Parts: sequence; C-alpha cells; structure tokens
Amino acid sequence: MEKKTVLEELLLKKSQQKKKISPINYKKRLFVLTKANLSYYEYNKGKKGSKRGSIEIEKIRCVETVNLEETTPPARQYPFQVVYKGGLLYVYAANEESRERWLAALHKEIKDNSDLLNKYHKGFFINGKFLCCNQTCKAAPGCTIWEKYVTLCCTTESVKPLPPGPEKLWKHRSLPQVLSPDKSVLNMAVAQCNWEETEGNSAFRLVRSNKYYVLQEEDSGWWQVRDLEGENSGVSEQTLAEEQSIAKHDWYAGYVSRVQCEQLLHQKGKEGAFMVWKSSQAGMYIVSVFSKLPESRKGTVKHYHVHKTPQNKYYLTENYCFGSIPKLIHYHQLNSAGMVTRLRHAVSTQVNKVPTTASLGNGIWELKREEIVLMRELGSGQFGVVHLGKWKGKYDVAIKMIKEGAMSEDKFIEEAQTMMKFNYPKLVRLYGVCSKLYPIYLVTEYMANGCLLSYLRSHGKELQPIQLLEICYDVCDAMAFLESCQFIHRDLAARNCLVDSNLTVKVSDFGMTRYVLDDLYVSSLGTKFLVKWSAPEVFHYAKFSSKSDVWSFGILMWEVFTLGKQPYELYDDMQVIEKVSQGYRLYRPQLVSDIIYQIMYNCWHELPEKRPAFYQLLSFFEALREDNRA
Ligand code: ADP
Repeated sequence: MEKKTVLEELLLKKSQQKKKISPINYKKRLFVLTKANLSYYEYNKGKKGSKRGSIEIEKIRCVETVNLEETTPPARQYPFQVVYKGGLLYVYAANEESRERWLAALHKEIKDNSDLLNKYHKGFFINGKFLCCNQTCKAAPGCTIWEKYVTLCCTTESVKPLPPGPEKLWKHRSLPQVLSPDKSVLNMAVAQCNWEETEGNSAFRLVRSNKYYVLQEEDSGWWQVRDLEGENSGVSEQTLAEEQSIAKHDWYAGYVSRVQCEQLLHQKGKEGAFMVWKSSQAGMYIVSVFSKLPESRKGTVKHYHVHKTPQNKYYLTENYCFGSIPKLIHYHQLNSAGMVTRLRHAVSTQVNKVPTTASLGNGIWELKREEIVLMRELGSGQFGVVHLGKWKGKYDVAIKMIKEGAMSEDKFIEEAQTMMKFNYPKLVRLYGVCSKLYPIYLVTEYMANGCLLSYLRSHGKELQPIQLLEICYDVCDAMAFLESCQFIHRDLAARNCLVDSNLTVKVSDFGMTRYVLDDLYVSSLGTKFLVKWSAPEVFHYAKFSSKSDVWSFGILMWEVFTLGKQPYELYDDMQVIEKVSQGYRLYRPQLVSDIIYQIMYNCWHELPEKRPAFYQLLSFFEALREDNRA
C-alpha cells in the first residue's frame, strides 16, 4: 500500500474516551492521511513527534460533519467525525475550508470500502449518549440518513464481484428456529432474532428483522437461505401454525404496509370494510377498519393491534378475549364491542394463487392444456393476447397465448427452466408452458391490478410519495435478486411490471426480449426498440449488463414519480440518443426530493461501472423506508 501523504495538517483531536472514566480533552495533533491510514502524531515546536494513533482507511465507514453543541468555543467550530470499525473519532478543523478539504480527501479514499454506513449520528456522543437520538451505545446504528453514502457507493471505480449464484453448494448448519415467512409466501423470510454462526469459518449471521432470500425449501423443514450480501446457509423452518390458521381467511392480507392497507380500505369505501394484516415492523397482527363515523365524510381507517394475554388469549379491547384470531374476528363481525364500527365487509387481497410449494419437477413444467380454462382477456402485448384463466378449476393464472411467428420458441423453452426457478416474491412467477400445440401458452402468476404503467396513470393521484417510494423499493428488491443470480432483465420499464391485489409491485417479462422475433423491436435501429429506457452502451453497442438494467431502473423511478409520464416527451428516439450522448438527463419530477433525484441521477451515469449496483440501491431504499416509518 502506498505511503505517500495525501493530506497533512494540524488539527484538534478530542479524546476518544474508550473507557468511561477517561477524561475529555482536546489535543493538537498532526494528522497525516495516506492511502492506507489516517494517523496522528504529537507536534512540538514545529517538529513531528511520536505517533499517537492510526486508523486503517479500509476500516472507515463514514466521515461527516457533526452538529455543534449548544456552547462551543471558537476553536471548535468545525468538527467532523470519523466512524470506523471499533471506534468513533472527533476532529476539529480550524476553519470551514480546512474541514471541507479533509472531508473531500477522506471521502475519496474511503469510497471503495465495502462497509460504508447509510446512516450516521449528526450529534456528538457525550456523557454516555448521542445528543441527536439519545441512544446510549456508542456503536448504535445511525439515526440520520448519510446523504453522501449514495454518491460514494455509486461512484466506485472497482465494481464489487456479484454475490454467488444459486448454483453455489449449500452448507448445512444447525440453527435455532428463527425465520418467519414474508407476505405468506415461503421464499422471503424475516429473521426473528439475532443468530451468528459459531462453527467453522463462516461469517453467516441472521440479524433480527433483516430479510433473507429463501431460495429452496427442502424436505424435513430445511430452508436454504441467502443474505443480501450473497452468503448462503441452510436454516431450519419455524413452525408456522399460527400463520397457517389465519391465512385461509379472505380477510387476511399477510404482510402489507400500513399505507397499502389504508389505500385498499379507502378504495372499498364501505362502512365497516376491514382487513387483518401483519406488520413486519411491529411483528404483530393488526385489524384495520374503515369508517365514516363519527363525522368524517371521506372516511378514516382505524388500526387495532391484536394483543395476547399471558394465557395466549387474543383481544382487541380487553374485555373480550378469544382462543384464536378467527374467533376474535368472528365476534367483532357481530359486535363492535369497543371498536368504531363492527367488521362488516372483508376486503380480500387474496387471489387463489398456485401454492408456492407446488413442485416444479425436474424438466420443463409442461401443463395439461385441458386443465386450463380461459376466462377473460386481460390485455395484449408483443407476444399476443393475455387471458385470465383457471388452472385445475381453482387457481387463478394469467395465460399468454403466443402468436405464431412472434417468438423464438425453441430458444425460450430451453431457457424457461431457469426462469421457472426464479421463485421470488417480487418477480411474477412463470408456472409453466403448454407447448405441444399452437398457440403456445405461457402460464404465469395472475396480478389482479394489471400493468404498473396503467395503474400509475389511473390511480397515481391517490398515492402518497411514500407509496411511490415503496413501488421503487419492490422493483429494486426484485432486481437485486436477479442481479445476485447474474440474470439481466434487458427490458425493465413500468409497462413490464405488474401490480398485485395487495398492491405489491412485481417485475415481469425478465429476459423475454431475447425471444422476440420482430426485428423492429430487437434492433436498436428498429422503430419499436425502446431507446428511452436504454443505457447509452445499449443503444450504441447492444451491450447489456446488470448496470444497463440499473439505467432502466432510473427511468422507471422517473415514470413512477411522474405518475406514468412518457420520458423525454418532446423528443423522438434519434433526438434522445443525441441528447443523452451529450450528457442531457431527465428533469427532476415535482414529487421527487433531492435525495431521490440523486439516486435516479446516479443510475444514469454515462459509465456503467460508475452506476450503483441494485444491492446498494436496495440498502439505500431500506434506510429511506425506515426513516419514513420513524
Ligand atoms: P407481452 O409481454 O406479450 O408484451 P404483456 O406482458 O405486456 O405482454 O401483457 C399485456 C397486458 O396484459 C399487460 O399490459 C397487462 O394489462 C396484462 N397482463 C399481462 N400479464 C398479466 C398478469 N400476469 N396478470 C394480469 N394481467 C396481465
């Protein structure tokens, strides 16, 4: 590692108080920044003395200013903090210019670090607590979004290798029963407690409330999971008895957000419309009911937590306890008993989907055509007409009827096997095909609220900014999964996402452009080629990558926050190619804050390697969501 000095200056250093009793003092030290370390030395009579401390650059996780305390002497007006693995250092520059210089130099050196924080503390840690949030642990997670994070992690020169693909061999280890399913499907799970691998060399950790991809369920209750960094492990399944007993009721919506629930109940708009859902935040069941009483004309939604007594009885209002949640709901369907109104109309988010546990077998899942009944037309697209249908008389499915000559069928059937393995809650599932006769049927998960672009155009005005953010989060979540499987979508846009009955957004049509036979669509010179969603390296050289998907994701975010506007409305494709190549980018939509625009803008970096990866975007969205919940 290079020893050359990047920056050197006399600064004031606050004692780190590593022990509670160590005194607070401020000492002048000569700070020396090299590419490997930030070190500080004694300095006396113009001479550099002995080294008093040093922090390795690669251990630094955040460098940012600190808010001033109430009374601060003139010598300590320009503090900044260096958060690193194992400590927190406060340093004072002599003036703003000097502080800026140190921040800029440190940011430049740390930008490739893998563990940068997306949140920090803007207040000092003094007398055993942070002044900003009163947390008492020095290592407590930050309380404020670190805005610089997104710029830093998005301009990494060297791209981190992708997490390992699904083919990586699984390691089996014994684990406590700590996972519960997300959205009542078994392929995303939320850890119920912290757990750390203690055997072997692995660093696999479950962190309470964090999400894990469940890639495969094996017999005997083993789940194979992967964390967001791509580390895999085998874990044991939690007993799901409670969840299963209520999941069959049409009033149960599984994991939805509070805003989604409110929107669904408002959409229904009937006195006593209700649903029961599970909060991933509070880990509790919540009964929500819509009422126009006592005086609100628009109606309001009231939320009641389902409480449990030490004897495992359920109640909403203390006087009425029941042995199970269905019994409790049944009672309140007949009696308001302390609620604003009785539960009159169950609002269902349940479409009868094909169970996620259905075995896909080893080869292509060839479905029997006679088991599929076509019901009504849902729309039509590049490959042909799409129908709602029933499979085996009970499951709702969408059926794409492929028009002859529209698809390179053999190629598709070869790939379909891989695509069917993508069993992820934010991806529209491909169940199977009927390929023995024409027209070929492509059978997929049915999404009751149709295409995202139409949904934004028709319902967008009812959505609050936090819901728009949630849509971007869902799509980013799906894309982070595809990225971790090293799978490129190639045609990400709002028109290729679908909205579920509970308003979750899922990504569809992944990889499908490879099978389109229409040259006008496929060739970047063709009239149907969608230039406006394409990265420059795609429209110039047809060079697709996860980073070209990131560009399209930026455009999709823009579509979401403009409620479905056409990007670059005033320009035709040739003009877009010219403008984008000259550095022109889409404007900031009205509903977009600085920080969200910054995210989109980073997706449109001319150089693919300087765009953020989806997993980096995902952690940023997660921090924003947490902030909105707080
Ligand atoms: P293609 O991929 O052939 O271009 P699309 O996937 O765009 O076709 O489908 C055309 C329309 O059909 C969509 O805009 C949407 O309204 C409807 N549709 C497609 N798939 C589904 C689905 N799985 N569930 C509900 N509606 C769907």
